Amino acid sequence: MSKQTPIDVSLNPAASRATGFELARPNEPGTPKVDSAFARNRAFAAAGGHEGAVVFPNLRLFVITCLDPRVDPAHFLGLKLSDAMVVRNVGGRVTQEVINDVAFIAQITENVIPDGPMFEVAVIHHTQCGAGALADATFRRRYAERIGADEADLRDHAVLDPAATVMSDMERLCSAPAISQRVAVSGHVYDVLTGLVQTIVPASAHRKNGETAPTPATPQAGQIGFASS
Ligand SMILES: [Zn+2]
Repeated sequence: MSKQTPIDVSLNPAASRATGFELARPNEPGTPKVDSAFARNRAFAAAGGHEGAVVFPNLRLFVITCLDPRVDPAHFLGLKLSDAMVVRNVGGRVTQEVINDVAFIAQITENVIPDGPMFEVAVIHHTQCGAGALADATFRRRYAERIGADEADLRDHAVLDPAATVMSDMERLCSAPAISQRVAVSGHVYDVLTGLVQTIVPASAHRKNGETAPTPATPQAGQIGFASS
């Protein structure tokens, strides 16, 4: 996977086209169209789209990926309702908050699956990621001031080489004391130009002490709940 150049976040139209940041219809006013989404919701409910949903994901899958609208796992992974837990942030990075979320779900799951594997976390970074903007010193400094963060920490948040960042994030997740060894972790890159996901590190290759991550177990219906924990 080739390393990408930092994204030019200036107002240079050519740079915008090159990075996919241009508006789909530049001449249209930038008015949010949330009413359209709510109309789709009413159609969804009327068609019973919400029926049969379960709280423990059917694919025993926990996806961590970017919030980029081109990178919606409901589309590129074909996820249906109840198929997977999904956390999305800038770059799909494994932050402390994301580690805490995985730990939370693991703790919930431990109540109903006392032994054996629980679920697999798939960390998926992507090509042309806007998080590459954090490699630009001017952008990074302004953003650090805006959110009150340490600029040096933000540099590590840039996604320029998604295969490399996905491996470092896997390592961060796997080495976190809060994450049970019973949680499998894998790393992948989604190519926005081909629509294909490439596995960089399969789950079985990333366990400590050479152990293999087994296939996640299936809890019985109705076992997962928040009330008893
Ligand atoms: Zn992205």
